[in-house]
Amino acid sequence: MSNKKILVLPGDGIGNEVMSEVLNIINWMEKTKSVSFDISERLVGGTAYDKEGNSISDETMQFAIDSDAILFGAVGGSKWDNVERNKRPEAALLRLRKDLDLFANLRPAVVLDALVEASSLKLDLVKGLDILIVRELTSGVYFGQPRGISKINDTESKAIDTQLYTTSEIDRVSRVAFDLAKLRRNKVTSAEKSNVMETGLFWRNIVTELHKNEYSSVNLEHMLADNCAMQLVRNPKQFDVILTDNLFGDLLSDVAAMLTGSLGMLPSASLGPLSEQGTRAAMYEPVHGSAPDIAGQSKANPLAMIMSFAMMLKYSFNMQEDSQLVEKAVQNVLLKGLRTPDIKQGAEKIISTKEMGNAVIEELKILSGN
Ligand code: NAD
Repeated sequence: MSNKKILVLPGDGIGNEVMSEVLNIINWMEKTKSVSFDISERLVGGTAYDKEGNSISDETMQFAIDSDAILFGAVGGSKWDNVERNKRPEAALLRLRKDLDLFANLRPAVVLDALVEASSLKLDLVKGLDILIVRELTSGVYFGQPRGISKINDTESKAIDTQLYTTSEIDRVSRVAFDLAKLRRNKVTSAEKSNVMETGLFWRNIVTELHKNEYSSVNLEHMLADNCAMQLVRNPKQFDVILTDNLFGDLLSDVAAMLTGSLGMLPSASLGPLSEQGTRAAMYEPVHGSAPDIAGQSKANPLAMIMSFAMMLKYSFNMQEDSQLVEKAVQNVLLKGLRTPDIKQGAEKIISTKEMGNAVIEELKILSGN
């Protein structure tokens, strides 16, 4: 029996196409390396709504709770636009995040040499870029109460959102950022708006205190979130790990994403709290959605999904070497000029989703001598 229980949730649209390439890689790894995974595959999103009446069933949630890691494709599509809000495809994602308490969202923004021209910034600003955004994902203004729209009088109404953070919410996500920085270039930039927001000042104080008491060996800098957005496009290589809240993380991670040039290349991980046994719930997914415009046409780039799998090997199963092997295989395929349509820039060869997946496996074989 494998101790690596993975729940596979391909979802809708290109979710299925890109997940299928990861499953082929898993197959290859099981055949050629002394590793086995215990895989369960379930429906999620609109497909689950059609067959099971909800975008994620209670049984699938139980699989998620019992698994060591979840691989998630993508959900959504106009077919389900009129479904009630709590059963819509995207509600499945929110339930997984909430019920598993996936509070730390990790989004690497890495510019691969082969794709350096795809960035919107000048080559020397982004060549070799490797930053990691750690975003708080389960609290802050997207969840704080009170919220809502109400009437003040006959002519005026008001809308309220509440930005709310507790000590432990900031503490736990900061620990993730500091711990990861230690494995990288040992620097954390904490971004908030302490100049104009109480929660910003609170955030800064807690990060400072934790750093002083437990992480003084890591370089810490504080930066106002608006300046951070500006610095990301002015001189992104100054950053290593950026630690930030839910709202600012939403914006800053999208800015950082565009530095790399393509949605089809961006993986992510969402981590839950550390248990006493040292394990944590974790979900790995590409940043992109279900791309209905290209679904079923073999045009989807599977590399973000494959890189999400590489993150799973690294963060859930401590398989650093295998994770790096997959990342290296992806880089080599791109260096050979193979491209799905979304990342084509010049005279490179256009290949299908399946051909890209196969090319990664061929490269894995070369790299590992199998
Ligand atoms: P999208 O990410 O699906 O697509 C945006 C654009 O990028 C499209 O032109 C698409 O063809 C392209 N694209 C995305 N991924 C690609 C890939 N791997 N390879 C090549 N091209 C790719 O975003 P959208 O169009 O705004 O949303 C479509 C649906 O996906 C909506 O229902 C939305 O709610 C949902 N969505 C889901 C998630 C998720 O499951 N995590 C995330 C974002 C959007």
